[in-house]
Amino acid sequence: MTARAETHEFQAETQQLLQLVVHSIYSNKDVFLRELISNAADALDKLRLASFANKDLQVDTSDLHVEIAIDPEQRTLTVRDNGIGMSRAEVVDLIGTIAKSGTAELLAKVRDSQDSAAELIGQFGVGFYSSFMVADRVGLTTRRAGEDEATRWESDGSGTYTVETVPDAAQGTSVTLWLKPEEADDNLFDYTSEHKIRELVRRYSDFITWPIRMEVERA
Ligand code: ADP
Ligand code: MG
Repeated sequence: MTARAETHEFQAETQQLLQLVVHSIYSNKDVFLRELISNAADALDKLRLASFANKDLQVDTSDLHVEIAIDPEQRTLTVRDNGIGMSRAEVVDLIGTIAKSGTAELLAKVRDSQDSAAELIGQFGVGFYSSFMVADRVGLTTRRAGEDEATRWESDGSGTYTVETVPDAAQGTSVTLWLKPEEADDNLFDYTSEHKIRELVRRYSDFITWPIRMEVERA
């Protein structure tokens, strides 16, 4: 974070959701990867559509793909795409707030129903925020197709996030998870294991038509 970074508070609903996610005993934490892969695939779909619709959009659509990189030494996992990306305002709107009806419904159900929060998280899915089930810090760098400036977002999931404009970044979005230590939770796997991630990619890539590549940092 630099002096130019602004600190924002999550809106109340987002905070409630994060509380649920961070403290969730939901055992199937693997689904965070499904959420990140599906967001990346959506972003690639959107870029392809945008490039058809707007011939002036100067974008290279010849190698649209998802890339997953793990660094066991740093304990990071990164999911990158060269899709549509987000403007700074979109990052604040889409990532900082939860406007989705599903989320409001989820929170209402958690308040009113006998089902455990864990079961409800499993049923509804919590999108991007599911990263905080396995990570204690999440960073996102994104540049929207056709724009020059990029945006950096970062949060430890505890109530605030920072956002800043950064001069250059690849077009598309890169999400990095600083993984929690495995001993933090009985239900945490080693998500820096190449074997584990390949298994999850196979499981979650059935409906994904874009190539998913994998990169492993070797010490
Ligand atoms: P959902 O995918 O159900 O809308 P998410 O929490 O997964 O909910 O993501 C929220 C929004 O953030 C998405 O709708 C999308 O607009 C934006 N977003 C998330 N990931 C990406 C990405 N990799 N590229 C571009 N936009 C993204
Ligand atoms: Mg999503």
